[in-house]
Amino acid sequence: MAETPVISIRNLTKVYRLGEVEVPALQGVDLDVYRGEFVAIMGPSGSGKSTLMNLIGCMDVPTSGEYYLDGQDVRRLSKNDLARVRNKKIGFVFQAFNLLARATALENVELPLIYADGIPARERRARALRALELVGLADRAHFYPTQLSGGQQQRVAIARAIVNEPLVILADEPTGNLDTRTSVEIMGLFQELNERGITIVLVTHEPDIAQFAMRVVEMRDGRIHRIRPVENRRRAGAYAVVGQSSNTAVRQ
Ligand code: ADP
Ligand code: MG
Repeated sequence: MAETPVISIRNLTKVYRLGEVEVPALQGVDLDVYRGEFVAIMGPSGSGKSTLMNLIGCMDVPTSGEYYLDGQDVRRLSKNDLARVRNKKIGFVFQAFNLLARATALENVELPLIYADGIPARERRARALRALELVGLADRAHFYPTQLSGGQQQRVAIARAIVNEPLVILADEPTGNLDTRTSVEIMGLFQELNERGITIVLVTHEPDIAQFAMRVVEMRDGRIHRIRPVENRRRAGAYAVVGQSSNTAVRQ
């Protein structure tokens, strides 16, 4: 029996209107992503990558076309239902981490659970701690973002993204603010989460980062130019991080 894709998109378009000006950001995108996949989206600046991610993440609605998320027709959902689906099924990770500065790591990770209804505070806390454990930061639970390195802040953001046990993680340039070694560590974490069954869609402009994915979707001018499988996929597990202060990651 054919498996239903987690993300199924047909002829999706998005036109932004700026007063009199129309910007056709997406001009007919078709894409299927299956459960357990790890897809990288690449393409020049302005090619529609973030627009596509926002539509996949139910942050915005398309101008036309179809989008099924986990078999559900997203066009039929009310604004409230869309927010609920987003909170339950999608975890977001951004380039700039987007943590609340005045909240601890633990409080940041708890946030999506506060928006979900009916979870007692004690359970929220326990789940947030488990998510922090999964990203290797349980010992930083009570630190504020400014007390954490960039890589650690991104780990907190990833913990926040997984605390609701989403189907899909959407990451838009998640290593854009990180050095090479830290980027590899973060990609290793994404690979681990992917191996636990979370589907991942990640935008990057770095070919080295795309090599951690299974497939690469190349966008140009609001369209998918081509889709190719990753050959010689990079495995972050095959990299040993040498020393805490070293800047190198060495292949074993
Ligand atoms: P990418 O992420 O690949 O750099 P974007 O999806 O951000 O590309 O942008 C695609 C096109 O849509 C660009 O021409 C951009 O200027 C335009 N665009 C993106 N967001 C908006 C918006 N909120 N309003 C108007 N135009 C937008
Ligand atoms: Mg972008």
